[in-house]
Amino acid sequence: MTCLNIYGPLARRQSLKVAVGDVLIGGDSPIVVQSMTNTDTGDIAATVEQIIALSRAGSEVVRVTVNDSAAANAVPRIREQLDGMGIHVPIVGDFHFNGHRLLAQEPACAEALAKLRINPGNVGRGSKRDEQFGTMIEFACRYNKPVRIGVNWGSLDQVLLAKLMDENSRLSQPLAANVVMREALVMSALESAEQAVSWGLAKERIVLSCKVSGVQDLIAVYRDLAQRCYYPLHLGLTEAGMGSKGIVASSAAMAVLLQEGIGDTIRVSLTPEPGGDRTREVLVAQELLQTMGLRSFAPMVIACPGCGRTTSTVFQELASQIQHYLREQMLLWRPLYPGVEDMHVAVMGCVVNGPGESKQAHIGISLPGTGESPVAPVFVDGVKTVTLKGDHIAEEFQAIVEEYVQRRFARVATQLDSQQSLCPETVEVVNDV
Ligand code: SF4
Repeated sequence: MTCLNIYGPLARRQSLKVAVGDVLIGGDSPIVVQSMTNTDTGDIAATVEQIIALSRAGSEVVRVTVNDSAAANAVPRIREQLDGMGIHVPIVGDFHFNGHRLLAQEPACAEALAKLRINPGNVGRGSKRDEQFGTMIEFACRYNKPVRIGVNWGSLDQVLLAKLMDENSRLSQPLAANVVMREALVMSALESAEQAVSWGLAKERIVLSCKVSGVQDLIAVYRDLAQRCYYPLHLGLTEAGMGSKGIVASSAAMAVLLQEGIGDTIRVSLTPEPGGDRTREVLVAQELLQTMGLRSFAPMVIACPGCGRTTSTVFQELASQIQHYLREQMLLWRPLYPGVEDMHVAVMGCVVNGPGESKQAHIGISLPGTGESPVAPVFVDGVKTVTLKGDHIAEEFQAIVEEYVQRRFARVATQLDSQQSLCPETVEVVNDV
């Protein structure tokens, strides 16, 4: 199986295809972007508001914690409100410790969810473990829901880990502790999946994840997991951290795996700044996939970093304004202009690389650097079309971008529409032309 990226086909690991509501994960489906709310799920208004924001930002699946009766009771109401507003993003319930009880108390919760996430390290201890895990799988089977068996480094099954550590210590050349820990993670996921299947859950209803917080550990664990099963894999570096550290660590780990064709859905677990925007993690996940050429979500802005040649803030302001504008417009553009998400817009700071980079983009502007004549040539499809000057360069450039999108991508839309209404032979002729 292959996945086309802009540099050619990228081999994708073979996996089963799992339906999460209307969203398909695994097989040849596009790599799905997902996220998780950080509201109190029992606070229906706040949770609905955040799910809408995450969905509008591009999250294709949204997970909510189901940690108590109020949360379990809220889930069907949240689903109802979202459906009433035409927001059909699948909701996943995250269960730990008491999931078996909550589902028994509120079966409507299981019905409203598109998937259950179960952490096998947190489903109970001793003899209760199998019983409680089994109850949750039973609910998944009864309501025909898929399950993500999500193992986490921080809540690894301690009994399994102790057993593997004991066995390792008896070896003539014991393995390093972190290698044993990785094996325990993978085994916990695979054995739990096997158990779920033995209790009646179809293999096509299982997604696996094994999250850790170290980049090298994540790569090693997922490479191993990918070889040992055909379940689709949910990638994510757990506790990635805040700001640039979280983004860099998540991207470094996931990019290696994605490049090897491993990973069917991703989440970037960023810790938001106090009062920060939860949707940032969605944007980062999309940009990771898009910069790797694996999927396209919104036009890309190519901007130089600026240097001593750009002593004013005009250049940074325009780059930021255009980036913001393109993202905002996507809600409107997506249905109207197919292919617009592949557009490249260059915003460059001076004449050194400005014209060259602008010519490579679909549309580009080269702003004047310090000491240069205060004019900004604009290039459209590699050709200089106009030179902007004065106080309204930003507005005028934005209008040029808008006009370009309408002209270029609406034409594609019209062509696609007319091709769909033609017979196959006629389509071949149109394509030949
Ligand atoms: S394009 Fe010009 S302003 Fe931008 S980094 Fe290069 S030299 Fe500096």
